[in-house]
Formats: sequence, C-alpha cells, structure tokens
Amino acid sequence: MRQPIIAGNWKMNNTIAGTKALLTDLIPLVKDAKAEVVVCVPYTNIAAAGELIKGTNIKLGAENVHWAEKGAFTGEISADMLVELGVEYVIIGHSERRQYFGETDQTVNARVKAALAKGLKPIICVGETLEEREGGLVKDVLVRQTTEAFKDIDKSQLENIVIAYEPVWAIGTGKTATAQDANDTIAIIRDTMANLYCKDCAENKVRIQYGGSMNPKNASELMAMPQIDGGLIGGASLKAVDFSQVVKY
Ligand code: PEP
Repeated sequence: MRQPIIAGNWKMNNTIAGTKALLTDLIPLVKDAKAEVVVCVPYTNIAAAGELIKGTNIKLGAENVHWAEKGAFTGEISADMLVELGVEYVIIGHSERRQYFGETDQTVNARVKAALAKGLKPIICVGETLEEREGGLVKDVLVRQTTEAFKDIDKSQLENIVIAYEPVWAIGTGKTATAQDANDTIAIIRDTMANLYCKDCAENKVRIQYGGSMNPKNASELMAMPQIDGGLIGGASLKAVDFSQVVKY
C-alpha cells in the first residue's frame, strides 16, 4: 500500500512571524490526518518551523537543494545544511525553478543524487507546459523528465522518493487537470518507472502526487483516483483551514 502524502509548497511566502501563525493554526487541524503531512518552507523559516512542529505529525521540507556538497556557490544551500535543521523532504525540479532559474533535467538529477546521499527524501516535480500538451507531447516530456531525473538512482532508494506530477498550466492558475486526466497521466509516469525499474517498484515503492490548483473543493475527487498518491499544494497550503481540508480530503 502506498501511503498518501500531502505536501505544502509555500514558495516565497511567509516571514518567520507568518510561519509561526500558520503552523500554530495548522497543527491541531491536521493532527488526526491519515495522509503523511509535509510543509516545504523557505530556507529562512526552516529552523522556526522545525521547532514548532516538533512532536507533531507534520514533517519538515525545503524547496530546493544544491547538488554540491559544499564550496563556492554563493547563495546556495547544501543537503548537509538542511539535514542539520531536521529537514526530511526536499522539492526538486519545480516548474518555477525550471522556468525562471535554468533548472534542467540534468541539474534535477544531480540534486536528487545529492539529496539522497545525505538521507533527504526528494519530491521530484515533472510536468508538461500548455504548449507541450497542445502539441501532443505529454508522454514524451514525462518519459524524458522522469528518465533523466532517475538516472543512476538505485532501486533501493525508490521508497525514499516522491514524484509530483504538476502540469505547468495548472500551477497557480486555478485550472486543474480533471481527476481522470491526472490519473491517466500519472499512469504514464508509473509505466515509465516500471520500465526503468520493475513493475513492483512502480506499483508499490514510489508515490506519485498530483499538483496544480488542488484545493478543498477538488481534493477528494483527485484523491479518489487509484494512481494519485497525494498532492503538492501551493496556494491552498498558505491557509491553515484550506490546507487541512485538503489533507483530510
Ligand atoms: C505548486 O506550486 O507546486 C502548486 C501546485 O501550486 P498551486 O497549488 O498554487 O497551483
């Protein structure tokens, strides 16, 4: 059985004061959640968030990690630095990083390896743009992104990795893929994992989330689909009540 995992991606939102307020509201609302609950917060809020969620069922995540262990990379953050703060999950290859910060399939793979080497659990984002969808390239894009992201990653690591299928056209736009479409597209990613590793690996080891304008209204329909193992939640993760309703779908 694949345990559902719902992760909030706060992006560049919330100061430390905002972090305290949001998490103080959120903690009691999600305490009985059946899904695994994660909040991926900006680097500057990790320490404060970690203190607040100690002893709760909420897990700590970051939004990126550098591929090098250390060195002359001004402004970057290493896996060791995240581990020291108690981070468990890290988002890698979000479409905003691909779009605005030159993230490629190769740098995604390098970050995944660096994260795993230090015991962090990557949430690897894949997904097609609207142009790619309209051009009939969904399968090509997803197979390529998935194959490259998992290059040289051993089968034994699959239980420590989450994939987030996030159609770029659905992120922050209010447009959601239909539950059926999200399900069918995630099946393409799962097939790809079966081809790269094994059928059991794809069916039982790796969890695949949906992300893209998931909210309290559409969460239960999406979560009812057999291929969808959770959600990566942007906008709706910034409000405690909304996020808790998604978590409890
Ligand atoms: C995201 O950024 O990962 C995301 C899914 O955002 P939103 O929920 O706001 O579409």
